[in-house]
Amino acid sequence: MKLGNQMEALELTMDLGGSRSSIYPVLLWDEQGAVLVDTGMPGQLDAIRQAVEAAGVRFADIRHIILTHQDIDHIGSLPELVEALDGVEVWAHNDDVPYIQGERPLMKMNRDRMEKLFEQLPEDRKEMAMRILDHPPHAHVDHILHGGETLPFHGGVQVIHTPGHTPGHISLFVPSEGLLISGDELRVVDGELEGPAEGATPDMAQALKSLGKLVPFDVRTVICYHGGTFDRNPAQRILALHEAADQAAGR
Ligand SMILES: [Zn+2]
Repeated sequence: MKLGNQMEALELTMDLGGSRSSIYPVLLWDEQGAVLVDTGMPGQLDAIRQAVEAAGVRFADIRHIILTHQDIDHIGSLPELVEALDGVEVWAHNDDVPYIQGERPLMKMNRDRMEKLFEQLPEDRKEMAMRILDHPPHAHVDHILHGGETLPFHGGVQVIHTPGHTPGHISLFVPSEGLLISGDELRVVDGELEGPAEGATPDMAQALKSLGKLVPFDVRTVICYHGGTFDRNPAQRILALHEAADQAAGR
């Protein structure tokens, strides 16, 4: 799905607990090479390679991987990508780095939560899922982000720290296209732009507060990892979500 000049959303299929949905890593490129934002579920290296080539980019041209946060559907194929892409550099926010590097267990990959999710899976798939749980993906992060940086990709990519969904969750803004890559801070649900999912957001109060950080940007299109693109005046919708959250919190 084209997002702008030299920018595509790659569509992958996620199959969790028997429910299938699409997820959307983003690929940006310029003369310096390509940047991949988020890496799908474990085992999706081939699907990513195919989607990248279908976008007209050589897989080997991926030089950087930016992770919006530590969740399994965002870092899943990171180790395989690092293995396959010689010299690729990984970027993530400081507060999620220990989880991504395997120094701490992934926040949402605890057994109780996962066993419930995997309940309806057929035996062989359940076994595979539990294997992932016992050996979660991790990889070294080369560049630690804090929020507020402008990265030298695609004419400048701005890093916005939007904690709550995880402590180190980031969103990215690409001014040249007015594109917000929201990670899981925003979703498209039934055609409408919505805030973070309550069931998957440990610090909902902080995640709602983080919506305010997106307000100053001149957003013309949002690409949500879950739900895809939204371009019906997203800046106005983000402001409305932020104001509603503030009001509910008595701010
Ligand atoms: Zn997610």
